[in-house]
Amino acid sequence: MIYIHIPFCGSFCTYCGFYSEIADREVAGRYVKALCTEISSRKKELAEGPDTLYIGGGTPSVLPLSAVMEIASAAGGAALAGIPLSQRHFREFTFEANPEDIAGRGRAYAEGLAACGVNRISMGVQSFDDGILRWMNRRHSAGTAVKAYDIIRESGIENVSIDLIFGISQMDDDLWNDTLDKAVALRPQHISAYQLSIEPESTLASMVRTGRYREASEPVCRRQYDMLCRKLSEAGYRHYEISNFALPGYEALHNSSYWRHVPYAGFGPGAHSFSIGGDTALSGTLRKYMRFWNIPDVRKYISSCLSGGCGAYPEESADTGIVQTETLTPEQVAIERIMLGLRTDRGVESSCLESYADGSGLAKMIDKGFLVPASDPSFLRIPEKHFFISDSIIADII
Ligand code: SF4
Repeated sequence: MIYIHIPFCGSFCTYCGFYSEIADREVAGRYVKALCTEISSRKKELAEGPDTLYIGGGTPSVLPLSAVMEIASAAGGAALAGIPLSQRHFREFTFEANPEDIAGRGRAYAEGLAACGVNRISMGVQSFDDGILRWMNRRHSAGTAVKAYDIIRESGIENVSIDLIFGISQMDDDLWNDTLDKAVALRPQHISAYQLSIEPESTLASMVRTGRYREASEPVCRRQYDMLCRKLSEAGYRHYEISNFALPGYEALHNSSYWRHVPYAGFGPGAHSFSIGGDTALSGTLRKYMRFWNIPDVRKYISSCLSGGCGAYPEESADTGIVQTETLTPEQVAIERIMLGLRTDRGVESSCLESYADGSGLAKMIDKGFLVPASDPSFLRIPEKHFFISDSIIADII
């Protein structure tokens, strides 16, 4: 699986703590060249033909179509080189987009994305209430989101995911209910819904510090999460991960692989890669259980890549100063697998839990019904009714 990071946005959202910069045409152009250089110089890592490509950010849709084409063809050329051109496509190619970009650029842009091989769009809708959207400092209105959704549909891209946020103190249950109704009425294949969190680097964090925002209480968040689970289940969505719901057959392949701890290759500043070593094409080059990432600095990244210093394997590029690495112990890997697996309805292997979890904590969780057999009987999972408190369940187990 390949992740490509686009660290540019049109503006900064109130709640966001991600690293990104306001899009600048000149910098973005050089960034795309740097990205393609990194992809091509790490193509050995992609030799096994990963089946998913995810372009995320930031806001990838701030890029013009020509830049998306350049990136998609660099990724396709590196990962799918052995496949005849006519069949060269990723099983799932997700592109993150914001509604104002799709609505502003119009159908030609969406059709152009489809021509690049994009077959899934993940759109940051967040709310269908204009007051909430303004508070979030989003650049779109509810109407723009619906227009963008229609444009994507008309372009022939059939797999659409939308993001929503709940647990905002000024959003009462009626407003959340209305947002869910509007989301379900569009009938996207996939819905991701996140509880608002206070990210340390965000504007919201400083609003909390200065008393301009008070967090929603836990009972409110819990109630809105329960509404979410109930409404989406009634509408036919499968709750397959704490924050993710899909119509049957439309679970996100890319993210599901991530939750299964499958190795991945990330490109761009801040993007992480994970190698399990041993049986991969890179055995002997990358260490087992090694995670590495480019530092989150666009300018350093560009100048390093364009001067031939990025994209080499970490051991070889230690002196460029832009790649950082960590090697996980088998215990750390198992704990990550438990933490990721228990986020999903697939769960995690009982044997993994028994080997690495605290024995008494595990028994207590099973007794209390916080862990139950999954559809594969050799796996244990957290039942949906306890997803909301999964963090504390997982913390007790490990
Ligand atoms: S939420 Fe998305 S669009 Fe908003 S600032 Fe963060 S990365 Fe950019």
